[in-house]
Amino acid sequence: MHDWTKIIKKTTVADKTSGAVNTPIYLSSTFNQESFDHFGEFDYARSGNPTRKVAEEAVAALEDAKYGYLFSTGMAAISSVLLTFSKGDHLIVSKYVYGGTFRILEEVLPRFGITHTYVDLADLDAVRAAIQPNTKAIYIETPSNPILAVSDIAALSQIAHEHDLLSIVDNTFMSPVLQKPLNLGADIVVHSATKFLAGHSDILAGAAIAKDKDIADKIYFIQNAVGATLGVTDSWLLLRGMKTLGIRMQQSSTAAQKIAEWLEAQPQVTRVCYPGLKSNAGYAVQQKQAVNGGAVLSFDVGSEDAARTVAEETKIPEFSVSLGGAETILSYPPKMSHAELSPAEQAKSGITPGLLRFSVGLEDPDDLIADLKQAFAKIK
Ligand SMILES: *Cc1c(COP(=O)(O)O)cnc(C)c1O
Repeated sequence: MHDWTKIIKKTTVADKTSGAVNTPIYLSSTFNQESFDHFGEFDYARSGNPTRKVAEEAVAALEDAKYGYLFSTGMAAISSVLLTFSKGDHLIVSKYVYGGTFRILEEVLPRFGITHTYVDLADLDAVRAAIQPNTKAIYIETPSNPILAVSDIAALSQIAHEHDLLSIVDNTFMSPVLQKPLNLGADIVVHSATKFLAGHSDILAGAAIAKDKDIADKIYFIQNAVGATLGVTDSWLLLRGMKTLGIRMQQSSTAAQKIAEWLEAQPQVTRVCYPGLKSNAGYAVQQKQAVNGGAVLSFDVGSEDAARTVAEETKIPEFSVSLGGAETILSYPPKMSHAELSPAEQAKSGITPGLLRFSVGLEDPDDLIADLKQAFAKIK
């Protein structure tokens, strides 16, 4: 079944008792047990509830998996997956990992004896060299934030499996309709469902998805034990938002490709980071493992002053953090998502003072190009 059909079928599951075409918001923390000896499917809503169950089955199906778990935020999903590891375990992590994941790896997990090494995952020999006797997983994020560096999911998963490690992929930037890491050999996919899956900059949500039952059982155990589950109303809003995922990703990624090609030809732009461009180092791998370059790009206008001019003079994009909404979002990583990094650390990660990130929404791309053009003309 094509993804677009699957999305609609999986988010439109008629309620068994009422026939309601949309799953009701079951606002009930506890469930009556009809028999003293035999309890029903649901008992207490942290362990499971009917609204969240439909949403969990939908996100799992979109990654071609059987098991999906929803959390209150993307960070709750990522942290819960990382809590399946134990004292003494070591992880290999993309050096371009999301700031919140970086914070958990740096400040929280070491207190429980879980350590990590950052590696440029584009360098497969460096990955092999970083494997220690106690390494348990390779943690991938592709394309990465904010410079859209691409990692080869199949190659990294193969290295992982040769050494009995798991491979974990943060698939937030692509969404399951543009990239399916589990089909490329990965073991666990995580999402900030706050972004493209929900798609409307309204709720926070996270997902963890696996094909293997033993892995899934470990994630479910932590989900229920720690309890950072997605609320019932937000589960419903996620189902609502996901219905248009296919058409949103198609529109936004086609527009992003057009805008990236236009940006490449502008004299004010020194660098365009977008894996859909032939000039991009990750182009070949992106072509192999994803449908296209996605809906997020970043570009460098040469200096902080020029970046300020673009942010202040553009009229259409929202100047804010986050991405994956219906509206185009312009952000300034050096002062927003990556403000925690020192200027030296920023430089090492390719985050230059003139770098802006652009999450393309559903507006007409020609309007966005015209808006950028008039802002670029004001750069001194
Ligand atoms: C936003 C984001 C997260 C964190 O998700 P929250 O929903 O904000 O907790 C994780 N990974 C990536 C790539 C993100 O963009």
